[in-house]
Amino acid sequence: MTSVSEEELQQLNAYTRRPLTSEEVYVFSVTLCDNEIDRDFERFSVAALNTLADLFLGKSGIFDHNQKAGGQTARIFKTWVEQDKTRTTTQGEPYTMLRAKAYMVRTQSNRSLIEEIDGGIKKEVSVGCSMGTARCSICGKSHRDLDCEHRPGTTYGDKLCHLILDDPRDAYEWSFVAVPAQRGAGVTKAFKKGAPAETLERIKTAQTGLQLSAEDVRKLQKRLCALEQNENDAKAFRAELLCDIEKYLLLALPQISAEPFLKGCRDLDAESLQSLRKSLKRQCDALLPPSPQLKHTAQKSDRQNNRAFCI
Ligand SMILES: [Zn+2]
Repeated sequence: MTSVSEEELQQLNAYTRRPLTSEEVYVFSVTLCDNEIDRDFERFSVAALNTLADLFLGKSGIFDHNQKAGGQTARIFKTWVEQDKTRTTTQGEPYTMLRAKAYMVRTQSNRSLIEEIDGGIKKEVSVGCSMGTARCSICGKSHRDLDCEHRPGTTYGDKLCHLILDDPRDAYEWSFVAVPAQRGAGVTKAFKKGAPAETLERIKTAQTGLQLSAEDVRKLQKRLCALEQNENDAKAFRAELLCDIEKYLLLALPQISAEPFLKGCRDLDAESLQSLRKSLKRQCDALLPPSPQLKHTAQKSDRQNNRAFCI
Protein backbone atom coordinates (compact mmCIF):
# COMPACT_ATOMS: atom_id res chain seq x y z
CA MET A 1 0.00 0.00 0.00
CA THR A 2 1.33 3.43 -0.94
CA SER A 3 1.28 5.92 1.86
CA VAL A 4 0.23 9.47 1.20
CA SER A 5 2.42 12.30 2.45
CA GLU A 6 0.99 15.35 4.17
CA GLU A 7 2.14 17.53 1.29
CA GLU A 8 0.44 15.31 -1.30
CA LEU A 9 -2.74 15.32 0.75
CA GLN A 10 -2.74 19.11 0.71
CA GLN A 11 -2.12 19.22 -3.03
CA LEU A 12 -4.86 16.73 -3.91
CA ASN A 13 -7.34 18.36 -1.56
CA ALA A 14 -7.19 21.41 -3.82
CA TYR A 15 -9.19 19.30 -6.29
CA THR A 16 -11.74 17.72 -3.93
CA ARG A 17 -15.15 18.94 -2.82
CA ARG A 18 -14.31 18.20 0.81
CA PRO A 19 -10.92 17.52 2.42
CA LEU A 20 -10.02 13.86 2.22
CA THR A 21 -7.96 11.94 4.77
CA SER A 22 -4.96 9.79 3.89
CA GLU A 23 -7.03 6.67 4.68
CA GLU A 24 -9.65 7.62 2.12
CA VAL A 25 -7.39 8.14 -0.85
CA TYR A 26 -5.15 6.04 -2.98
CA VAL A 27 -2.25 7.85 -4.68
CA PHE A 28 -0.15 6.49 -7.54
CA SER A 29 2.19 7.84 -10.19
CA VAL A 30 2.14 7.44 -13.95
CA THR A 31 4.25 8.46 -16.91
CA LEU A 32 1.91 10.25 -19.29
CA CYS A 33 4.21 10.76 -22.26
CA ASP A 34 7.86 11.25 -23.24
CA ASN A 35 10.15 12.61 -25.95
CA GLU A 36 10.85 9.29 -27.66
CA ILE A 37 9.50 8.60 -31.17
CA ASP A 38 6.35 6.53 -30.81
CA ARG A 39 4.72 3.85 -32.93
CA ASP A 40 3.12 6.50 -35.13
CA PHE A 41 6.50 8.14 -35.81
CA GLU A 42 5.70 11.18 -33.71
CA ARG A 43 7.35 12.60 -30.63
CA PHE A 44 6.75 15.44 -28.21
CA SER A 45 9.32 18.20 -27.92
CA VAL A 46 10.64 18.80 -24.40
CA ALA A 47 9.01 22.25 -24.45
CA ALA A 48 5.68 20.57 -25.28
CA LEU A 49 6.08 18.21 -22.31
CA ASN A 50 6.56 21.25 -20.05
CA THR A 51 3.37 22.90 -21.32
CA LEU A 52 1.44 19.64 -21.11
CA ALA A 53 2.48 19.40 -17.45
CA ASP A 54 0.28 22.43 -16.71
CA LEU A 55 -2.54 21.31 -18.98
CA PHE A 56 -2.87 17.86 -17.39
CA LEU A 57 -3.33 19.23 -13.87
CA GLY A 58 -6.78 18.31 -12.57
CA LYS A 59 -7.56 16.07 -15.57
CA SER A 60 -9.44 12.85 -14.99
CA GLY A 61 -8.18 9.46 -15.92
CA ILE A 62 -10.52 6.63 -16.74
CA PHE A 63 -10.14 2.90 -16.75
CA ASP A 64 -11.08 0.80 -19.74
CA HIS A 65 -13.27 3.62 -21.07
CA ASN A 66 -16.64 2.09 -20.14
CA GLN A 67 -16.23 2.28 -16.39
CA LYS A 68 -16.50 6.02 -16.06
CA ALA A 69 -19.01 5.73 -13.25
CA GLY A 70 -18.65 3.93 -9.95
CA GLY A 71 -15.44 5.37 -8.56
CA GLN A 72 -13.38 4.16 -11.50
CA THR A 73 -11.82 7.52 -12.15
CA ALA A 74 -8.61 9.07 -10.93
CA ARG A 75 -7.54 12.68 -11.00
CA ILE A 76 -4.12 14.18 -11.58
CA PHE A 77 -3.08 16.59 -8.82
CA LYS A 78 0.60 16.95 -9.51
CA THR A 79 2.73 16.88 -12.65
CA TRP A 80 6.40 17.32 -13.35
CA VAL A 81 8.89 16.81 -16.17
CA GLU A 82 11.64 14.37 -15.31
CA GLN A 83 14.89 13.53 -17.08
CA ASP A 84 16.45 10.10 -17.02
CA LYS A 85 20.15 10.88 -17.28
CA THR A 86 21.01 7.25 -17.93
CA ARG A 87 18.88 7.09 -21.07
CA THR A 88 19.22 8.84 -24.41
CA THR A 89 16.48 8.90 -27.01
CA THR A 90 17.04 7.69 -30.57
CA GLN A 91 17.44 11.39 -31.44
CA GLY A 92 20.28 11.79 -28.95
CA GLU A 93 18.28 13.87 -26.45
CA PRO A 94 18.24 13.04 -22.75
CA TYR A 95 15.18 10.81 -22.20
CA THR A 96 12.53 13.13 -20.76
CA MET A 97 9.08 12.21 -19.53
CA LEU A 98 5.98 13.90 -18.24
CA ARG A 99 5.16 12.29 -14.92
CA ALA A 100 2.04 12.72 -12.84
CA LYS A 101 0.56 11.81 -9.49
CA ALA A 102 -3.08 10.91 -9.38
CA TYR A 103 -5.50 10.05 -6.63
CA MET A 104 -8.61 7.89 -6.33
CA VAL A 105 -11.11 7.80 -3.51
CA ARG A 106 -10.99 4.30 -2.11
CA THR A 107 -14.33 2.49 -2.44
CA GLN A 108 -15.49 -1.09 -2.27
CA SER A 109 -15.86 -1.16 -6.06
CA ASN A 110 -12.36 -0.02 -6.96
CA ARG A 111 -10.51 -2.27 -4.54
CA SER A 112 -9.44 -4.79 -7.15
CA LEU A 113 -8.50 -1.99 -9.52
CA ILE A 114 -6.19 -0.49 -6.88
CA GLU A 115 -4.63 -3.89 -6.38
CA GLU A 116 -4.02 -4.13 -10.12
CA ILE A 117 -2.31 -0.73 -10.18
CA ASP A 118 -0.24 -1.63 -7.14
CA GLY A 119 0.72 -4.92 -8.74
CA GLY A 120 1.77 -3.15 -11.91
CA ILE A 121 -0.83 -4.92 -14.06
CA LYS A 122 -2.35 -1.74 -15.40
CA LYS A 123 0.62 -0.25 -17.18
CA GLU A 124 -0.19 1.25 -20.53
CA VAL A 125 -1.45 4.82 -20.37
CA SER A 126 -3.07 6.57 -23.26
CA VAL A 127 -3.32 10.36 -23.32
CA GLY A 128 -5.55 12.58 -25.38
CA CYS A 129 -4.35 16.07 -26.22
CA SER A 130 -4.50 18.64 -28.96
CA MET A 131 -1.23 19.83 -30.44
CA GLY A 132 -0.87 23.10 -32.35
CA THR A 133 2.00 22.10 -34.59
CA ALA A 134 3.54 18.96 -36.03
CA ARG A 135 6.86 19.62 -37.77
CA CYS A 136 8.74 17.34 -40.15
CA SER A 137 12.02 16.23 -38.53
CA ILE A 138 13.84 16.39 -41.88
CA CYS A 139 12.94 19.82 -43.29
CA GLY A 140 11.31 21.45 -40.25
CA LYS A 141 8.17 22.41 -42.17
CA SER A 142 4.66 21.74 -40.96
CA HIS A 143 3.44 18.31 -42.08
CA ARG A 144 0.49 20.10 -43.71
CA ASP A 145 2.93 22.18 -45.81
CA LEU A 146 2.78 20.94 -49.39
CA ASP A 147 6.48 21.74 -49.82
CA CYS A 148 7.39 18.96 -47.39
CA GLU A 149 7.86 15.79 -49.39
CA HIS A 150 8.96 13.63 -46.48
CA ARG A 151 6.90 10.83 -45.06
CA PRO A 152 6.98 9.88 -41.39
CA GLY A 153 8.42 6.40 -40.96
CA THR A 154 10.63 6.70 -44.04
CA THR A 155 14.40 6.96 -43.70
CA TYR A 156 16.22 9.70 -45.66
CA GLY A 157 19.94 9.07 -45.71
CA ASP A 158 20.42 7.88 -42.15
CA LYS A 159 17.62 10.00 -40.71
CA LEU A 160 14.23 8.58 -39.79
CA CYS A 161 11.49 11.05 -40.71
CA HIS A 162 9.07 11.69 -37.86
CA LEU A 163 6.83 14.49 -36.69
CA ILE A 164 7.78 16.70 -33.76
CA LEU A 165 4.64 17.63 -31.84
CA ASP A 166 4.71 21.08 -30.31
CA ASP A 167 2.60 23.92 -29.02
CA PRO A 168 0.03 21.96 -26.96
CA ARG A 169 -3.41 23.57 -26.99
CA ASP A 170 -5.31 21.36 -24.61
CA ALA A 171 -5.17 18.11 -22.69
CA TYR A 172 -8.37 16.08 -22.54
CA GLU A 173 -8.11 12.93 -20.55
CA TRP A 174 -5.84 10.04 -19.89
CA SER A 175 -6.69 6.42 -19.40
CA PHE A 176 -5.28 3.07 -18.57
CA VAL A 177 -5.54 0.80 -21.56
CA ALA A 178 -6.57 -2.77 -21.00
CA VAL A 179 -3.85 -4.17 -23.23
CA PRO A 180 -0.66 -5.53 -21.72
CA ALA A 181 2.27 -3.14 -21.95
CA GLN A 182 3.87 -3.46 -25.34
CA ARG A 183 7.01 -1.60 -24.48
CA GLY A 184 9.55 -1.64 -21.68
CA ALA A 185 8.84 -1.55 -18.00
CA GLY A 186 6.77 1.17 -16.38
CA VAL A 187 3.73 3.04 -17.45
CA THR A 188 4.18 4.04 -21.05
CA LYS A 189 2.18 6.23 -23.33
CA ALA A 190 0.16 5.68 -26.42
CA PHE A 191 -0.77 9.08 -27.74
CA LYS A 192 -4.43 8.82 -28.67
CA LYS A 193 -4.81 9.66 -32.31
CA GLY A 194 -5.12 8.03 -35.70
CA ALA A 195 -8.20 6.39 -37.12
CA PRO A 196 -11.26 7.84 -35.43
CA ALA A 197 -13.18 4.63 -36.08
CA GLU A 198 -15.96 5.44 -33.64
CA THR A 199 -16.54 8.91 -35.11
CA LEU A 200 -16.55 7.56 -38.66
CA GLU A 201 -19.12 4.96 -37.64
CA ARG A 202 -21.31 7.69 -36.15
CA ILE A 203 -21.08 9.73 -39.36
CA LYS A 204 -21.92 6.72 -41.53
CA THR A 205 -25.02 5.85 -39.53
CA ALA A 206 -26.17 9.37 -38.64
CA GLN A 207 -29.47 10.65 -40.02
CA THR A 208 -29.61 14.22 -38.73
CA GLY A 209 -28.21 16.38 -35.97
CA LEU A 210 -24.79 14.81 -35.70
CA GLN A 211 -22.64 16.57 -33.11
CA LEU A 212 -18.87 16.39 -33.16
CA SER A 213 -16.45 17.54 -30.51
CA ALA A 214 -13.44 19.71 -31.36
CA GLU A 215 -11.28 16.64 -30.76
CA ASP A 216 -13.39 14.56 -33.20
CA VAL A 217 -13.04 17.28 -35.83
CA ARG A 218 -9.29 17.47 -35.31
CA LYS A 219 -8.96 13.70 -35.73
CA LEU A 220 -11.13 13.69 -38.83
CA GLN A 221 -9.01 16.44 -40.36
CA LYS A 222 -5.93 14.39 -39.68
CA ARG A 223 -7.56 11.31 -41.15
CA LEU A 224 -8.51 13.26 -44.27
CA CYS A 225 -4.93 14.46 -44.67
CA ALA A 226 -3.72 10.87 -44.42
CA LEU A 227 -6.31 9.71 -46.97
CA GLU A 228 -5.29 12.48 -49.37
CA GLN A 229 -1.69 11.37 -49.02
CA ASN A 230 -2.69 7.76 -49.74
CA GLU A 231 -4.65 8.90 -52.78
CA ASN A 232 -1.63 10.79 -54.12
CA ASP A 233 0.57 7.77 -53.56
CA ALA A 234 -1.93 5.54 -55.34
CA LYS A 235 -2.07 7.96 -58.30
CA ALA A 236 1.73 8.04 -58.55
CA PHE A 237 1.88 4.26 -58.38
CA ARG A 238 -0.73 3.87 -61.15
CA ALA A 239 1.07 6.41 -63.34
CA GLU A 240 4.29 4.46 -62.93
CA LEU A 241 2.55 1.18 -63.81
CA LEU A 242 1.03 2.70 -66.96
CA CYS A 243 4.37 4.17 -67.96
CA ASP A 244 6.07 0.76 -67.61
CA ILE A 245 3.26 -0.93 -69.54
CA GLU A 246 3.65 1.55 -72.40
CA LYS A 247 7.41 0.98 -72.47
CA TYR A 248 7.13 -2.83 -72.48
CA LEU A 249 4.28 -2.71 -74.98
CA LEU A 250 6.38 -0.75 -77.50
CA LEU A 251 9.16 -3.29 -77.13
CA ALA A 252 7.15 -6.49 -77.05
CA LEU A 253 4.35 -5.67 -79.48
CA PRO A 254 5.56 -2.83 -81.73
CA GLN A 255 2.87 -3.64 -84.31
CA ILE A 256 0.09 -2.72 -81.84
CA SER A 257 -1.08 0.87 -81.62
CA ALA A 258 -0.32 1.77 -78.00
CA GLU A 259 -2.79 4.59 -77.40
CA PRO A 260 -6.12 2.67 -77.60
CA PHE A 261 -4.54 -0.16 -75.61
CA LEU A 262 -3.42 2.22 -72.85
CA LYS A 263 -6.82 3.90 -72.86
CA GLY A 264 -8.37 0.54 -71.96
CA CYS A 265 -5.71 -0.01 -69.32
CA ARG A 266 -6.70 3.16 -67.45
CA ASP A 267 -9.92 1.50 -66.28
CA LEU A 268 -8.11 -1.46 -64.78
CA ASP A 269 -7.42 -1.71 -61.08
CA ALA A 270 -3.85 -1.67 -59.76
CA GLU A 271 -3.73 -5.44 -59.33
CA SER A 272 -4.66 -6.11 -62.98
CA LEU A 273 -2.16 -3.47 -64.11
CA GLN A 274 0.56 -5.14 -62.07
CA SER A 275 -0.10 -8.54 -63.62
CA LEU A 276 -0.24 -7.00 -67.11
CA ARG A 277 3.10 -5.30 -66.53
CA LYS A 278 4.54 -8.60 -65.33
CA SER A 279 3.49 -10.55 -68.42
CA LEU A 280 4.64 -7.80 -70.80
CA LYS A 281 7.98 -7.64 -69.02
CA ARG A 282 8.36 -11.39 -69.37
CA GLN A 283 7.70 -11.01 -73.08
CA CYS A 284 10.35 -8.29 -73.35
CA ASP A 285 12.90 -10.29 -71.38
CA ALA A 286 12.42 -13.20 -73.81
CA LEU A 287 12.94 -10.89 -76.77
CA LEU A 288 15.85 -9.00 -75.31
CA PRO A 289 17.79 -11.18 -72.91
CA PRO A 290 19.38 -9.05 -70.21
CA SER A 291 23.05 -8.31 -70.98
CA PRO A 292 25.81 -6.92 -68.79
CA GLN A 293 25.90 -3.14 -68.76
CA LEU A 294 29.63 -2.88 -69.29
CA LYS A 295 30.11 -4.37 -72.67
CA HIS A 296 33.46 -5.19 -74.14
CA THR A 297 32.58 -3.16 -77.24
CA ALA A 298 32.11 -0.06 -75.15
CA GLN A 299 35.63 -0.35 -73.84
CA LYS A 300 36.87 -0.77 -77.35
CA SER A 301 35.15 2.39 -78.55
CA ASP A 302 36.49 4.26 -75.52
CA ARG A 303 39.93 3.22 -76.51
CA GLN A 304 39.25 4.37 -80.04
CA ASN A 305 38.04 7.73 -78.74
CA ASN A 306 41.13 8.10 -76.65
CA ARG A 307 43.20 7.77 -79.74
CA ALA A 308 42.24 11.28 -80.63
CA PHE A 309 44.42 12.44 -77.77
CA CYS A 310 47.43 10.39 -78.91
CA ILE A 311 50.17 12.21 -80.64
ZN1 LIG B 1 9.82 17.49 -44.64
